[in-house]
This record gives sequence, C-alpha cells and structure tokens, in this order.
Amino acid sequence: MAVETTLSIIKPDATRRNLTGKINARFEESGLQIVAQKKIWLTRNQAEAFYEVHKERAFFDDLCNFMISGAVVVQVLQGENAIAENRKIMGATNPVNAEEGTIRRDFAENVEANSVHGSDSAENAKKEISFFFSELEIVG
Ligand code: ADP
Ligand code: MG
Repeated sequence: MAVETTLSIIKPDATRRNLTGKINARFEESGLQIVAQKKIWLTRNQAEAFYEVHKERAFFDDLCNFMISGAVVVQVLQGENAIAENRKIMGATNPVNAEEGTIRRDFAENVEANSVHGSDSAENAKKEISFFFSELEIVG
C-alpha cells in the first residue's frame, strides 16, 4: 500500500442539508486527511466537462442539472490506499445497495442525489484533482 490522493465532492443534496461536517468526520475518523477543500458552485459547462465519461448515459442530463442545483465542496483526501478506502467509506452508488455505516447508506437521498463523489482509479484521481486544484492549493 502507498499514500495516495483522491478527489472527493460533497454534492448539492448534502451541502443543502448542512452535512459537510458530518461527512468530513467520516473521512477523518477513517484516517483520511483533507489536504485541500473549497466550496464552489459549478457552471453547467464545468459539470458536463467533469462528467464527460458519462455523456452517453441516459442520466447524464439529469446528473448535470443536479450537480449545478446547489453548492458543492470539492476536496482532496490523502491517506494509505486513499482511492479504494474512500470508495469503501462512500458505499455503493445506489444507497439501497450501500453497506451499513457508509456515507451513502446513511445520507444519500437516492441513486442520483447520493451525497458524495470519489475518484475510482489512480488515473482518474490525478485528472479529477487537477480539474479543480493547482498544486499550490494542496497542503499535505
Ligand atoms: P459512482 O459515483 O459511484 O462512481 P457512477 O460513476 O456510475 O457512480 O455515476 C456517477 C454519478 O451519476 C453517480 O454518483 C450518481 O450521482 C449518478 N448516477 C449513476 N447512476 C445513476 C442512475 N441510474 N440514475 C441516476 N443517476 C445516476
Ligand atoms: Mg464514478
């Protein structure tokens, strides 16, 4: 195992319900460190660019509308095996299938408004971190 960084987004359903601190506590309790964080409101163009890999999916348009329906908190998490570790803490995409004690099981509203995003591979983590942050903004 190695120390990794991964991109996390606290989505509009969660910022709207004032859950940023509760979700951040889940990361910190599991040993992940928040090494960069900012609250932003995505433009439609930014949401479409971020989710470009999903542009052929039926839910793409709805997903982009949801992601611009409120503020998001974008953050870089760092720790041992951070990419897989974060995916584990997040739980399955659909909260109905997420394990007990995961963020999505405990906080998600539905398969779309599922409270958090997390990078799914080292390659995507690198891409997604640089989408939102410069190296100067990441303080490990
Ligand atoms: P994950 O976020 O777990 O990596 P995906 O990359 O497959 O999941 O999907 C990206 C996001 O698109 C999900 O987090 C969710 O917000 C939304 N999404 C995925 N599947 C659906 C679906 N069947 N209906 C509506 N929205 C969906
Ligand atoms: Mg994904």
